[in-house]
Amino acid sequence: RVLADRGLIAGLIETCSAAIAAHADHLCLLDSAIGDGDHGTNMKRGFDALRSESDALSALPLAQAIERIGVTLVMNVGGAAGPLYGTLLIEIGRSLGTSGADTDLPDAFGKAVDAVARRGRALPGDKTLLDVLYPVHAELVRHAAPDAIAGRAESAARHTIGMRAMRGRAAYLGDRSIGHIDPGASSCALLTSAICRYIEE
Ligand code: ADP
Ligand code: MG
Ligand code: MG
Repeated sequence: RVLADRGLIAGLIETCSAAIAAHADHLCLLDSAIGDGDHGTNMKRGFDALRSESDALSALPLAQAIERIGVTLVMNVGGAAGPLYGTLLIEIGRSLGTSGADTDLPDAFGKAVDAVARRGRALPGDKTLLDVLYPVHAELVRHAAPDAIAGRAESAARHTIGMRAMRGRAAYLGDRSIGHIDPGASSCALLTSAICRYIEE
């Protein structure tokens, strides 16, 4: 279904922007504990921009649409998260665009996650959104069902509670970052769940 549905991009933008809008305050609250309290505001700004560009994005071929979504996120989310989410989408779009119709989504996603890691100079276990992206990739590789992918993303985000932040603002707190969920990991799980629910319908 996924790659053939012409309404897919519009539907995903609507689903994701609604999820972010509904949880923006909560994401800000999480970021207040170990950052500067703006993660929900940043994400909402980016996804509101996507919503307003939805018609133009939906008219593009899928790979180009995904790449453009990344550019819009870089330009509108801001903060640390904007360039990272942007890199993820831009790289997925480029991989799908260059290797043609039978491109392997798990492979494109994996390369994109590696690009995010390089961009943020972050590793798994550093208490960032990568601690959700790598487990999601593992689920994609084993062709897990959407509800399994969503479940793995949620538990991976919760797992960041025990981690010490090594990158981003939270790293300044050192050991005091332990005991709080990472805001970026939380938004990443939220988006993963929203996408999986949409795809399952
Ligand atoms: P800012 O910290 O600039 O206010 P946000 O609050 O929007 O940006 O995003 C913070 C999130 O970005 C963190 O919770 C973390 O998941 C992610 N993050 C920050 N720095 C890095 C990095 N170097 N590599 C990977 N992820 C990062
Ligand atoms: Mg912040
Ligand atoms: Mg900020």
